[in-house]
Amino acid sequence: MATIRGLWIATNNGKKLAELSRMLTPLGIDLRTPDQLGQPFEPIEDQPDFRGNARKKAALLAKLAKGLALGDDSGLCVEALGGRPGVLSARYGGPGLDDRGRLLRLLEELRNVATAKRTAHFTCSLCVCNAEGRVVASIEEHCHGTLLEAPSGDGGFGYDPIFVPREFAGDPTKTFAQLDAATKDRLSHRGKALRKLVLELPRLL
Ligand code: IMP
Repeated sequence: MATIRGLWIATNNGKKLAELSRMLTPLGIDLRTPDQLGQPFEPIEDQPDFRGNARKKAALLAKLAKGLALGDDSGLCVEALGGRPGVLSARYGGPGLDDRGRLLRLLEELRNVATAKRTAHFTCSLCVCNAEGRVVASIEEHCHGTLLEAPSGDGGFGYDPIFVPREFAGDPTKTFAQLDAATKDRLSHRGKALRKLVLELPRLL
């Protein structure tokens, strides 16, 4: 694939950026990040769904940067909790909690939920906007699995240490935080969505 100049990535989350970068950079895609803007990038994620928030992030950055921008909105939806934390995954439990605190808070809520009912899925919504802020691509993908009763593994980010993807069901040594990067990317919501998006990028140039 030819080098794509200036695909802006609309996230301030370093771990998420690292995942996007390790999948896109080897394809010759030249990534730019909000810290290169020279002005604050502070999107307000107030939409009721992932798609809407991904669009808001991409449109805001595309207009500020005057270039093609990719927004990623993602989160964990727990079936026993009616889909929570969902779009609130990054802010679950309120301000003051870090990734570990949010994960422990979620485990506490699931304390009395039996193993068979601890199903959940990650969603990743990707949106690309052009310099005018118009949506030129939008993709959503999922990754289904189950939640352990205690965290396991140091890799990844967010809720990775308690999430075992369906492909490794029943094996508590295979949380997203224990899998190597290539395996997580092959199975994850973000990996699936990005592979579809990559097919669309050439027509956007
Ligand atoms: P966003 O920046 O609003 O899209 O926040 C996404 C949040 O969802 C993250 O802060 C994590 O808590 C969670 N999340 C999304 N993707 C993943 C993943 O691949 N692993 C673990 N947690 C994730």
